[in-house]
Amino acid sequence: MEATLDLPETGDAPFSLDLSDDQRELRDWAHGFAERTIRPAAAEWDEREETPWPIIQEAAKIGLYGFEGLAQFYSDPTGLTLPIVNEELFWGDAGIGMAIFGTTLAVAGIVGNGSGEQIGEWVPQCFGTVEDPKVASFCVSEPDAGSDVSALRTRAKYDAAKDEWILNGQKAWATNGGIANVHVVVASVEPELGARGQASFVIPPNTPGLEMGTKVKKHGLRASHTADVFLADCRIPGSCLLGGRAKLDERLARTREGVRSRGQAAMATFEASRPTVGAQAIGIARAAYEYALQYARDREQFGRAIIENQAIAFTLADMKMEIDAARLLVWRASWMGRTGKPFAAAEGSMSKLKAGEVAVWATERAIQILGGNGYTREFPVERWHRDAKIYTIFEGTSEIQRLVIARAISGVHIR
Ligand SMILES: Cc1cc2nc3c(=O)[nH]c(=O)nc-3n(C[C@H](O)[C@H](O)[C@H](O)COP(=O)(O)OP(=O)(O)OC[C@H]3O[C@@H](n4cnc5c(N)ncnc54)[C@H](O)[C@@H]3O)c2cc1C
Repeated sequence: MEATLDLPETGDAPFSLDLSDDQRELRDWAHGFAERTIRPAAAEWDEREETPWPIIQEAAKIGLYGFEGLAQFYSDPTGLTLPIVNEELFWGDAGIGMAIFGTTLAVAGIVGNGSGEQIGEWVPQCFGTVEDPKVASFCVSEPDAGSDVSALRTRAKYDAAKDEWILNGQKAWATNGGIANVHVVVASVEPELGARGQASFVIPPNTPGLEMGTKVKKHGLRASHTADVFLADCRIPGSCLLGGRAKLDERLARTREGVRSRGQAAMATFEASRPTVGAQAIGIARAAYEYALQYARDREQFGRAIIENQAIAFTLADMKMEIDAARLLVWRASWMGRTGKPFAAAEGSMSKLKAGEVAVWATERAIQILGGNGYTREFPVERWHRDAKIYTIFEGTSEIQRLVIARAISGVHIR
């Protein structure tokens, strides 16, 4: 007799990878902008190495750049809309994508650490208006504190008589540094407490004492502005301490007593943003994969399309598989972050690590598939390869992500 299995209706399945109508609509909308406006301008702005203000303004006009747009992406209860939109924009171009999305890191710093009032006051100023768009900058890294965020030397001292904070120090590598309307700066309030003695501050527009240093000439992501920022007796109102004085004092007191707190200003921001950064890397990888697939169909050698060779076809199969695998890690981490699941195995780091390494590998493979053409600036894959490389470096290098994951899964303080 044949055994039968009574399967429940799949319509009730609690797990689904189907995108909702809203998610599909936003994805297609972002893709349309990337295809029509970003991709055609990519080579030009990469060569110019300048912030593409006209394109930021176009994004603002359609509501893609601004407080409302971002709020709409964030509001998706599954957490997927933000990575989906990022993937599409960075599929268009990563340099321009970062010029548009670099502001969100500062916004994440304000939202992650600030009060409701501070969020309402500063986030709109990060974006400016459609007529006069602005950008924002999140400044953590310093010349001697990159991976080791606990080594920050920028100091914030409180002047009780004037209810002002005075910041002094040098920030390195700041995306939009010096050209931003709003800078969010992580500084040390009590250096002896390391990362737990740090806090985040908003530097309002045109504050004296904040100056841009050298603009960095980069390997990739060249439409995105990167520069040092100098803070010399930079005075800001007491209310610019994100989260407020009472919260900071309480956290510092607990730390002094040896109670472990979760409040590491920079880390809280990076934790939340890593899956989104991973989605950007996937956008670059997918662009390269799609381009290489088409090229392999069209290009003939030895009397047949090069895709008919297993060496090429299997590479494309692996590219597709790795990109899809990375996306699943990004979606999982985004969903976990949005639904408040703890990253017990550092799933946020996993997603960014995998996506960054896939992007570097896939874009390098794409150059190989295009042969000599892949190595020239007449074709976009060399740019994608240059752009991809930053994804194993910023927001925590690949080594640091492995350290975070290894510590999370083992509980051992691995160095
Ligand atoms: C284009 C660009 C944009 C950026 N944007 C911003 C921004 O907006 N805001 C901001 O604050 N910063 C920004 N950064 C800085 C970026 O986050 C740092 O470059 C990054 O964190 C690495 O720091 P570092 O460059 O000092 O490298 P280092 O920390 O000096 O690392 C050098 C090498 O040593 C390895 N290493 C270090 N420590 C360990 C360890 N314990 N175990 C194993 N390996 C280790 C690293 O993985 C790396 O391979 C940006 C950087 C770039 C290039």
